[in-house]
Amino acid sequence: MIEDKNHKKTALSALGEFGLIEHLTSNFSVQNTTTILGIGDDAAVLDFKDKSVVVSTDLLVEGVHFDLSYMPLKHLGYKAVVVNLSDIYAMNAQATQITVSIAVSNRFGLEALEALYDGIRTAASIYGIDVIGGDTTSSQSGLTISITAIGEISSSKIAKRSGAKPNDLLVVTGDIGAAYLGLQVLEREKEVFKVNPNNQPDLDAYTYIIERQLKPEARKDVVKLLQDLEVQPTAMIDISDGLSSEIMHICKQSNVGCDLYEEKIPLDPQVISTCEEFNMDSTTIALSGGEDYELLMTISQEDYSKIKGNPNLTVIGYMTEPSSGMHLVTRGEEKIPLKAQGWNSLTKD
Ligand code: ADP
Ligand code: MG
Repeated sequence: MIEDKNHKKTALSALGEFGLIEHLTSNFSVQNTTTILGIGDDAAVLDFKDKSVVVSTDLLVEGVHFDLSYMPLKHLGYKAVVVNLSDIYAMNAQATQITVSIAVSNRFGLEALEALYDGIRTAASIYGIDVIGGDTTSSQSGLTISITAIGEISSSKIAKRSGAKPNDLLVVTGDIGAAYLGLQVLEREKEVFKVNPNNQPDLDAYTYIIERQLKPEARKDVVKLLQDLEVQPTAMIDISDGLSSEIMHICKQSNVGCDLYEEKIPLDPQVISTCEEFNMDSTTIALSGGEDYELLMTISQEDYSKIKGNPNLTVIGYMTEPSSGMHLVTRGEEKIPLKAQGWNSLTKD
Protein backbone atom coordinates (compact mmCIF):
# COMPACT_ATOMS: atom_id res chain seq x y z
CA MET A 1 0.00 0.00 0.00
CA ILE A 2 2.90 2.39 0.54
CA GLU A 3 4.50 4.11 -2.45
CA ASP A 4 6.86 1.69 -4.14
CA LYS A 5 10.23 3.40 -4.46
CA ASN A 6 11.80 0.52 -6.43
CA HIS A 7 9.52 0.80 -9.43
CA LYS A 8 11.01 1.14 -12.89
CA LYS A 9 11.35 4.84 -13.68
CA THR A 10 11.74 6.23 -17.18
CA ALA A 11 12.69 9.91 -16.99
CA LEU A 12 10.06 12.18 -18.54
CA SER A 13 12.85 14.10 -20.28
CA ALA A 14 13.46 11.00 -22.40
CA LEU A 15 10.17 11.65 -24.22
CA GLY A 16 10.03 15.44 -24.33
CA GLU A 17 6.80 17.35 -23.73
CA PHE A 18 5.08 16.47 -27.00
CA GLY A 19 6.19 12.86 -26.85
CA LEU A 20 4.82 12.63 -23.35
CA ILE A 21 1.42 14.15 -24.24
CA GLU A 22 1.22 11.89 -27.28
CA HIS A 23 2.12 8.85 -25.17
CA LEU A 24 -0.39 9.61 -22.42
CA THR A 25 -3.31 10.57 -24.62
CA SER A 26 -2.94 8.28 -27.63
CA ASN A 27 -5.54 5.72 -26.54
CA PHE A 28 -8.35 8.06 -25.55
CA SER A 29 -11.28 7.68 -27.90
CA VAL A 30 -14.29 9.96 -28.40
CA GLN A 31 -17.68 8.66 -27.24
CA ASN A 32 -19.97 11.71 -27.23
CA THR A 33 -21.59 13.22 -30.31
CA THR A 34 -21.16 16.66 -28.67
CA THR A 35 -17.38 16.27 -29.08
CA ILE A 36 -16.60 17.53 -32.57
CA LEU A 37 -12.82 17.71 -32.06
CA GLY A 38 -10.83 16.31 -29.12
CA ILE A 39 -7.14 16.22 -28.22
CA GLY A 40 -4.52 17.34 -30.74
CA ASP A 41 -5.35 20.83 -31.94
CA ASP A 42 -5.04 24.25 -30.31
CA ALA A 43 -8.51 23.86 -28.83
CA ALA A 44 -11.27 21.26 -28.69
CA VAL A 45 -14.57 21.87 -30.49
CA LEU A 46 -17.91 21.02 -28.88
CA ASP A 47 -21.46 21.39 -30.17
CA PHE A 48 -24.35 21.22 -27.69
CA LYS A 49 -27.06 22.45 -30.09
CA ASP A 50 -29.94 23.74 -27.94
CA LYS A 51 -28.71 22.37 -24.57
CA SER A 52 -27.33 24.42 -21.69
CA VAL A 53 -23.69 23.71 -20.83
CA VAL A 54 -22.39 23.34 -17.25
CA VAL A 55 -18.69 23.72 -16.42
CA SER A 56 -16.85 22.97 -13.19
CA THR A 57 -13.18 22.84 -12.29
CA ASP A 58 -11.06 21.50 -9.41
CA LEU A 59 -7.41 21.70 -8.48
CA LEU A 60 -5.70 18.91 -6.51
CA VAL A 61 -2.31 19.53 -4.93
CA GLU A 62 -0.05 16.79 -3.55
CA GLY A 63 0.35 17.07 0.20
CA VAL A 64 -2.82 19.15 0.48
CA HIS A 65 -5.50 17.08 -1.25
CA PHE A 66 -3.83 13.71 -1.60
CA ASP A 67 -1.02 11.70 -0.05
CA LEU A 68 0.76 9.29 -2.39
CA SER A 69 2.04 7.17 0.48
CA TYR A 70 -1.32 5.38 0.56
CA MET A 71 -3.05 6.66 -2.59
CA PRO A 72 -1.96 4.61 -5.63
CA LEU A 73 -1.61 6.84 -8.71
CA LYS A 74 -4.19 4.88 -10.64
CA HIS A 75 -6.73 5.52 -7.90
CA LEU A 76 -5.71 9.17 -7.79
CA GLY A 77 -6.42 9.55 -11.50
CA TYR A 78 -9.78 7.85 -11.10
CA LYS A 79 -10.73 9.92 -8.06
CA ALA A 80 -9.62 13.21 -9.64
CA VAL A 81 -12.07 12.57 -12.49
CA VAL A 82 -14.89 11.34 -10.26
CA VAL A 83 -14.85 14.31 -7.88
CA ASN A 84 -15.22 16.66 -10.85
CA LEU A 85 -18.04 14.67 -12.42
CA SER A 86 -19.83 14.75 -9.07
CA ASP A 87 -20.15 18.54 -9.42
CA ILE A 88 -21.73 18.14 -12.85
CA TYR A 89 -24.24 15.53 -11.57
CA ALA A 90 -25.02 17.86 -8.64
CA MET A 91 -26.47 20.27 -11.22
CA ASN A 92 -28.69 17.37 -12.44
CA ALA A 93 -26.68 17.40 -15.69
CA GLN A 94 -25.02 14.73 -17.85
CA ALA A 95 -21.21 14.89 -17.82
CA THR A 96 -19.77 14.76 -21.32
CA GLN A 97 -16.14 15.97 -21.45
CA ILE A 98 -13.14 16.77 -19.25
CA THR A 99 -9.81 18.47 -19.69
CA VAL A 100 -6.85 17.29 -17.59
CA SER A 101 -3.90 19.51 -16.70
CA ILE A 102 -0.90 18.31 -14.78
CA ALA A 103 2.27 19.80 -13.31
CA VAL A 104 4.86 17.13 -12.47
CA SER A 105 8.25 17.19 -10.77
CA ASN A 106 11.15 14.96 -11.88
CA ARG A 107 10.39 12.70 -8.91
CA PHE A 108 7.81 11.11 -11.23
CA GLY A 109 8.76 8.90 -14.12
CA LEU A 110 6.78 7.84 -17.15
CA GLU A 111 5.45 4.74 -15.38
CA ALA A 112 3.92 6.92 -12.65
CA LEU A 113 2.09 9.08 -15.20
CA GLU A 114 0.98 5.99 -17.09
CA ALA A 115 -0.64 4.75 -13.87
CA LEU A 116 -2.30 8.14 -13.32
CA TYR A 117 -3.67 8.16 -16.87
CA ASP A 118 -4.77 4.55 -16.55
CA GLY A 119 -7.06 5.70 -13.73
CA ILE A 120 -8.22 8.72 -15.72
CA ARG A 121 -8.99 6.53 -18.75
CA THR A 122 -10.86 3.97 -16.62
CA ALA A 123 -13.07 6.66 -15.11
CA ALA A 124 -13.65 8.29 -18.50
CA SER A 125 -14.74 4.98 -19.96
CA ILE A 126 -17.00 4.00 -17.03
CA TYR A 127 -18.70 7.41 -16.90
CA GLY A 128 -18.86 7.77 -20.69
CA ILE A 129 -16.97 11.05 -20.98
CA ASP A 130 -14.36 12.26 -23.46
CA VAL A 131 -10.95 13.62 -22.45
CA ILE A 132 -10.71 16.53 -24.89
CA GLY A 133 -7.51 18.28 -23.86
CA GLY A 134 -5.38 19.63 -21.08
CA ASP A 135 -1.96 21.00 -20.39
CA THR A 136 1.33 19.48 -19.25
CA THR A 137 4.09 21.29 -17.46
CA SER A 138 6.90 20.64 -14.98
CA SER A 139 6.82 21.58 -11.32
CA GLN A 140 9.53 22.25 -8.72
CA SER A 141 7.94 19.90 -6.26
CA GLY A 142 5.25 17.27 -6.35
CA LEU A 143 2.22 16.69 -8.49
CA THR A 144 -0.70 19.01 -9.20
CA ILE A 145 -3.76 17.96 -11.19
CA SER A 146 -6.48 20.25 -12.43
CA ILE A 147 -9.55 18.84 -14.13
CA THR A 148 -12.33 20.80 -15.79
CA ALA A 149 -15.57 18.94 -16.36
CA ILE A 150 -18.25 19.88 -18.88
CA GLY A 151 -21.82 18.65 -19.01
CA GLU A 152 -25.13 19.23 -20.75
CA ILE A 153 -28.65 19.78 -19.52
CA SER A 154 -32.01 21.16 -20.69
CA SER A 155 -32.32 24.54 -18.97
CA SER A 156 -35.58 23.61 -17.24
CA LYS A 157 -33.88 20.67 -15.45
CA ILE A 158 -31.00 22.59 -13.80
CA ALA A 159 -30.86 22.02 -10.02
CA LYS A 160 -29.19 24.97 -8.30
CA ARG A 161 -28.43 25.37 -4.63
CA SER A 162 -30.90 28.24 -4.43
CA GLY A 163 -34.27 26.65 -5.23
CA ALA A 164 -35.31 25.01 -1.93
CA LYS A 165 -38.65 26.08 -0.40
CA PRO A 166 -40.01 25.74 3.16
CA ASN A 167 -41.67 22.30 3.63
CA ASP A 168 -39.53 20.68 0.90
CA LEU A 169 -38.09 17.32 1.93
CA LEU A 170 -34.34 17.02 2.45
CA VAL A 171 -33.08 13.86 0.72
CA VAL A 172 -29.63 12.26 0.60
CA THR A 173 -28.34 9.44 -1.63
CA GLY A 174 -26.37 6.41 -0.41
CA ASP A 175 -24.73 6.58 3.00
CA ILE A 176 -22.33 9.08 4.49
CA GLY A 177 -19.28 9.35 6.74
CA ALA A 178 -17.42 6.36 5.27
CA ALA A 179 -14.78 8.23 3.24
CA TYR A 180 -13.59 10.24 6.24
CA LEU A 181 -13.31 7.13 8.39
CA GLY A 182 -11.46 5.33 5.60
CA LEU A 183 -8.92 8.14 5.69
CA GLN A 184 -8.55 7.74 9.47
CA VAL A 185 -7.75 4.04 9.00
CA LEU A 186 -5.23 4.78 6.23
CA GLU A 187 -3.53 7.48 8.34
CA ARG A 188 -3.29 5.06 11.25
CA GLU A 189 -1.74 2.34 9.06
CA LYS A 190 0.74 4.85 7.65
CA GLU A 191 1.97 5.59 11.19
CA VAL A 192 2.24 1.86 11.94
CA PHE A 193 4.19 1.36 8.71
CA LYS A 194 6.65 4.13 9.61
CA VAL A 195 7.50 2.27 12.83
CA ASN A 196 7.51 -1.23 11.33
CA PRO A 197 7.72 -1.42 7.51
CA ASN A 198 7.34 -5.22 7.60
CA ASN A 199 3.96 -5.06 9.23
CA GLN A 200 1.25 -6.23 6.84
CA PRO A 201 -1.94 -4.44 7.79
CA ASP A 202 -5.14 -6.48 8.05
CA LEU A 203 -7.72 -4.18 6.53
CA ASP A 204 -10.53 -6.70 5.98
CA ALA A 205 -12.81 -5.00 8.50
CA TYR A 206 -12.45 -1.70 6.64
CA THR A 207 -12.80 -2.62 2.96
CA TYR A 208 -15.93 -0.50 2.36
CA ILE A 209 -14.72 2.65 4.12
CA ILE A 210 -11.24 2.47 2.52
CA GLU A 211 -12.78 2.02 -0.91
CA ARG A 212 -14.99 5.04 -0.28
CA GLN A 213 -11.82 7.07 0.41
CA LEU A 214 -9.55 5.68 -2.33
CA LYS A 215 -12.07 4.93 -5.06
CA PRO A 216 -15.20 7.03 -4.67
CA GLU A 217 -17.95 6.97 -7.29
CA ALA A 218 -20.06 9.90 -8.50
CA ARG A 219 -23.85 9.48 -8.61
CA LYS A 220 -24.43 9.50 -12.35
CA ASP A 221 -27.04 6.82 -11.65
CA VAL A 222 -29.03 9.19 -9.45
CA VAL A 223 -29.40 11.78 -12.22
CA LYS A 224 -30.90 9.00 -14.37
CA LEU A 225 -33.01 7.71 -11.47
CA LEU A 226 -34.52 11.16 -10.82
CA GLN A 227 -35.33 11.46 -14.49
CA ASP A 228 -36.98 8.01 -14.52
CA LEU A 229 -38.98 8.84 -11.38
CA GLU A 230 -39.92 12.22 -12.89
CA VAL A 231 -38.61 14.04 -9.85
CA GLN A 232 -37.14 17.51 -10.35
CA PRO A 233 -35.07 18.46 -7.26
CA THR A 234 -35.80 22.02 -6.13
CA ALA A 235 -32.13 22.30 -5.05
CA MET A 236 -29.13 19.97 -5.20
CA ILE A 237 -25.46 19.90 -4.08
CA ASP A 238 -22.83 17.18 -3.81
CA ILE A 239 -21.41 16.22 -0.43
CA SER A 240 -17.73 17.03 -0.58
CA ASP A 241 -17.30 18.79 2.78
CA GLY A 242 -19.74 16.98 5.07
CA LEU A 243 -23.52 17.03 5.40
CA SER A 244 -23.64 20.00 7.75
CA SER A 245 -21.86 22.51 5.55
CA GLU A 246 -23.74 21.35 2.42
CA ILE A 247 -27.10 21.79 4.16
CA MET A 248 -26.01 25.26 5.20
CA HIS A 249 -25.11 26.13 1.60
CA ILE A 250 -28.61 25.16 0.44
CA CYS A 251 -30.26 27.01 3.35
CA LYS A 252 -28.27 30.21 2.81
CA GLN A 253 -28.61 30.24 -0.97
CA SER A 254 -32.31 29.32 -0.87
CA ASN A 255 -33.14 31.48 2.15
CA VAL A 256 -34.76 28.64 4.11
CA GLY A 257 -34.20 26.91 7.44
CA CYS A 258 -33.90 23.17 8.05
CA ASP A 259 -34.66 20.43 10.55
CA LEU A 260 -32.32 17.47 10.08
CA TYR A 261 -33.17 14.27 11.96
CA GLU A 262 -30.19 12.48 13.49
CA GLU A 263 -31.92 9.09 13.47
CA LYS A 264 -32.56 9.32 9.71
CA ILE A 265 -28.92 9.85 8.62
CA PRO A 266 -27.93 6.76 6.57
CA LEU A 267 -24.78 5.07 7.91
CA ASP A 268 -23.06 1.90 6.73
CA PRO A 269 -22.51 -0.75 9.46
CA GLN A 270 -18.72 -0.39 8.92
CA VAL A 271 -19.04 3.30 9.75
CA ILE A 272 -20.80 2.47 13.00
CA SER A 273 -18.30 -0.23 14.03
CA THR A 274 -15.25 1.86 13.07
CA CYS A 275 -16.63 4.86 14.96
CA GLU A 276 -16.91 2.66 18.04
CA GLU A 277 -13.33 1.48 17.60
CA PHE A 278 -11.98 5.02 17.15
CA ASN A 279 -14.24 6.33 19.91
CA MET A 280 -15.82 8.82 17.51
CA ASP A 281 -19.45 9.91 17.28
CA SER A 282 -20.98 8.68 14.00
CA THR A 283 -23.31 11.69 13.72
CA THR A 284 -20.36 14.08 14.03
CA ILE A 285 -18.54 12.12 11.32
CA ALA A 286 -21.57 12.24 9.01
CA LEU A 287 -22.06 15.97 9.62
CA SER A 288 -18.43 17.02 9.34
CA GLY A 289 -16.51 14.25 7.61
CA GLY A 290 -16.55 14.91 3.88
CA GLU A 291 -15.53 13.38 0.55
CA ASP A 292 -18.61 11.17 0.32
CA TYR A 293 -19.62 12.50 -3.13
CA GLU A 294 -23.24 11.61 -2.51
CA LEU A 295 -25.96 14.01 -3.62
CA LEU A 296 -28.01 16.09 -1.20
CA MET A 297 -31.25 17.48 -2.60
CA THR A 298 -34.54 19.03 -1.67
CA ILE A 299 -37.75 17.88 -3.30
CA SER A 300 -41.35 19.04 -3.13
CA GLN A 301 -43.62 17.12 -0.69
CA GLU A 302 -45.78 16.28 -3.71
CA ASP A 303 -42.97 14.09 -5.03
CA TYR A 304 -42.70 12.01 -1.85
CA SER A 305 -44.74 9.09 -3.21
CA LYS A 306 -42.35 8.84 -6.19
CA ILE A 307 -39.24 8.35 -4.04
CA LYS A 308 -40.82 6.48 -1.11
CA GLY A 309 -39.08 3.16 -0.43
CA ASN A 310 -36.31 3.75 -2.97
CA PRO A 311 -33.11 2.29 -1.45
CA ASN A 312 -30.95 5.01 -3.04
CA LEU A 313 -32.84 7.94 -1.53
CA THR A 314 -33.31 8.70 2.17
CA VAL A 315 -35.44 11.52 3.57
CA ILE A 316 -33.40 13.01 6.42
CA GLY A 317 -35.37 16.14 7.24
CA TYR A 318 -37.30 19.03 5.82
CA MET A 319 -36.85 22.68 5.05
CA THR A 320 -38.45 25.37 7.20
CA GLU A 321 -39.00 29.13 7.18
CA PRO A 322 -35.67 30.97 7.35
CA SER A 323 -36.61 32.45 10.75
CA SER A 324 -36.65 28.92 12.25
CA GLY A 325 -32.90 28.48 11.64
CA MET A 326 -30.94 25.31 10.88
CA HIS A 327 -31.19 22.50 13.41
CA LEU A 328 -30.23 18.93 14.12
CA VAL A 329 -33.04 17.07 15.90
CA THR A 330 -31.22 14.50 18.03
CA ARG A 331 -32.35 10.97 18.90
CA GLY A 332 -33.33 12.41 22.29
CA GLU A 333 -35.55 14.93 20.43
CA GLU A 334 -33.35 17.81 21.41
CA LYS A 335 -32.93 20.58 18.82
CA ILE A 336 -29.38 21.84 18.42
CA PRO A 337 -28.13 24.44 15.92
CA LEU A 338 -26.21 23.02 12.95
CA LYS A 339 -22.60 24.13 12.77
CA ALA A 340 -20.58 24.34 9.57
CA GLN A 341 -17.77 22.32 11.01
CA GLY A 342 -16.05 21.49 7.76
CA TRP A 343 -13.72 18.66 7.22
CA ASN A 344 -10.70 20.82 8.09
CA SER A 345 -11.73 21.30 11.67
CA LEU A 346 -11.62 17.53 12.11
CA THR A 347 -8.29 16.87 10.47
CA LYS A 348 -6.18 19.72 11.78
CA ASP A 349 -5.40 19.62 15.52
P1 ADP B 1 -0.44 24.19 -26.46
O1 ADP B 1 0.99 24.43 -26.80
O2 ADP B 1 -1.42 24.88 -27.35
O3 ADP B 1 -0.74 24.33 -25.00
P2 ADP B 1 -0.03 21.42 -26.11
O4 ADP B 1 1.10 20.96 -26.92
O5 ADP B 1 0.15 21.67 -24.65
O6 ADP B 1 -0.70 22.66 -26.81
O7 ADP B 1 -1.19 20.35 -26.25
C1 ADP B 1 -1.42 19.62 -27.43
C2 ADP B 1 -2.74 18.88 -27.31
O8 ADP B 1 -2.68 17.95 -26.25
C3 ADP B 1 -3.90 19.81 -26.99
O9 ADP B 1 -5.06 19.25 -27.60
C4 ADP B 1 -4.03 19.71 -25.49
O10 ADP B 1 -5.34 20.01 -25.07
C5 ADP B 1 -3.64 18.26 -25.26
N1 ADP B 1 -3.02 18.03 -23.94
C6 ADP B 1 -1.91 18.60 -23.44
N2 ADP B 1 -1.61 18.13 -22.23
C7 ADP B 1 -2.56 17.23 -21.93
C8 ADP B 1 -2.83 16.39 -20.81
N3 ADP B 1 -2.06 16.38 -19.71
N4 ADP B 1 -3.91 15.57 -20.85
C9 ADP B 1 -4.72 15.58 -21.91
N5 ADP B 1 -4.53 16.32 -23.01
C10 ADP B 1 -3.47 17.15 -23.03
MG1 MG C 1 0.04 23.26 -23.51
